[in-house]
Amino acid sequence: MNKVEFSAECQQCTRLADFLKEVKQANPDYYCKPVVPFGAAKPKLLIVGLAPGLHGANATGRPFTGDFAGILLYQTLYKFGFSNQAVSESLNDKLKLKQCRITNAVKCLPPENKPTSEEINTCNQFLADELNSLPKNTIILALGGIAHKAILKALTLKIKDYPFGHDTWYTLPNGLQLATSYHCSKYNTSTKRLTEAMFHEVFRKIRKTIDAR
Ligand code: URA
Repeated sequence: MNKVEFSAECQQCTRLADFLKEVKQANPDYYCKPVVPFGAAKPKLLIVGLAPGLHGANATGRPFTGDFAGILLYQTLYKFGFSNQAVSESLNDKLKLKQCRITNAVKCLPPENKPTSEEINTCNQFLADELNSLPKNTIILALGGIAHKAILKALTLKIKDYPFGHDTWYTLPNGLQLATSYHCSKYNTSTKRLTEAMFHEVFRKIRKTIDAR
């Protein structure tokens, strides 16, 4: 398998590269590049989100940082001992993740938060590289169905063998564990599709599994 390391200079998706240029023109202070994964190099937990948000990760350059979805995520990481503080605001806020790393299925901001299938597939080479470098036993947490599908594709596994649901757990053939949660998006939390208690329950299990090893 070819190893394709992530590059913050990638411009392979023309639509996304053009959109980032437009957004940068309108917001010169924003980061507006492929967002670099954040956290431990050899994590016990890898969290996979969808894609950077316009005024959040795309502005700050760190996954879920400044995004509404990041409020619950970072509070939860702190509550379960995966970080040194509950808030993630900017690259220089001294936040450190412990045993944990966060990445996205698509590294660039997509228009209307919707990457095309082609963009998800093009970016999948970077996710595959991240997943293939994980130690056996690492828990991968898919936030939402698109991240879940992207993870399975990156590992050349079939979605029909590992259907997405909230709080489902799979042991994958390569020894990695795949856990799932509904995405902690504004839509899901405001409609109560995902409650704080449901999200905490997923992390409680993750913490317990890691601590039991
Ligand atoms: N911000 C991210 O970085 N990823 C998401 O999935 C949502 C917001």
